[in-house]
Amino acid sequence: MPEPRRDYYEVLGVPRDADDKAIKAAFRELAKQYHPDRNRAPDAEAKFKQIAEAFAVLSDPDKRARYDRHGFAAVSDVSQEDLFGGLDLGDLLGGLGFGFGAPFFDRFGRRPRRAGPMPGADLEVALAVPLERVLHGGMETVRFRRTHSCDACQGSGAAAGTKPRACEGCHGTGQQAQRSRRGNVLFETITTCESCRGRGKLIEQPCPSCSATGEVAREEEVRVRVPVGATDGVVLRVAGHGMPSPTPGGPAGNLLVFVETAPDPRFERRGTDLSHVARLSVADAALGTELAVETLDGPTTVPAGTQPGAVFPLPGKGLPELGGGERGALYVIVRVDVPTELSDEARALFTHLRELERAQKPG
Ligand SMILES: [Zn+2]
Ligand SMILES: [Zn+2]
Repeated sequence: MPEPRRDYYEVLGVPRDADDKAIKAAFRELAKQYHPDRNRAPDAEAKFKQIAEAFAVLSDPDKRARYDRHGFAAVSDVSQEDLFGGLDLGDLLGGLGFGFGAPFFDRFGRRPRRAGPMPGADLEVALAVPLERVLHGGMETVRFRRTHSCDACQGSGAAAGTKPRACEGCHGTGQQAQRSRRGNVLFETITTCESCRGRGKLIEQPCPSCSATGEVAREEEVRVRVPVGATDGVVLRVAGHGMPSPTPGGPAGNLLVFVETAPDPRFERRGTDLSHVARLSVADAALGTELAVETLDGPTTVPAGTQPGAVFPLPGKGLPELGGGERGALYVIVRVDVPTELSDEARALFTHLRELERAQKPG
């Protein structure tokens, strides 16, 4: 709302006792002048909203009476949606040559929005990407569930051959207004209708296909291209595979695919680096050996060190940066397995080894 607020009668340029006809005529004249479809001045939309707000209040006998008695405070609790929801600009400004593709609130309400039908909501899904795919990039299949209007009942939720009836509790609006007075101010509180839970209609025979929800969920798949070096948190946007538009014929929302690194029993990922734990027997650790190690590029060998916890870096065997480039390292961490069960022969050999070690120690 522009500040400071101007008196609604002043905005429309009519006297306080103007009748409905005069108010409507004044609104039509000003709308012609300031409608953003015609007036390209940067403040035209703000002026037009002010004019529309003044008209929305003064053309409604109840709101006008409240405004007359108590000023802006009396209508300050009315939401923009409530204020403009009932305005039919096509009807009011018919013949003036404006295109009215969207209801007033959709076009000029608080949320800025492009002209045209409202797109569906975005749908979010996680995709676990294996390390080989991170390394090379390429196509992955995303499986997700998406709700559609139920075919059996055409989205009404009522069984075939029956129709939902309008809720008597809210006259089909899904909302109930409760009035209360605080001091001089009359408040109107809008709550969701309890009888129909805001649906505005009651279903006596529920559609068996959708349990009266009017929607069914379907499994779908879409192929997405995973970029080389994709990291956790990369979001792939697939246009048109989100939720359907609430407006028939409107565009569906986007499918947002959140990339996650798939767990891999062989490797731990940290950015572009990988680590791998190689297990070594006590004898191999002591005598030395060539250790066979798995990498994303195939098997290789490292000379096994004798100390547990030794780390062998293999530069260039990690993952590339997002979009490609130099690869990180693979760190091979050596763990020595101390046997928990010994055969008689092994026990005899270890006992002999210990005697040898004690005999060698000085003192
Ligand atoms: Zn159904
Ligand atoms: Zn109701």
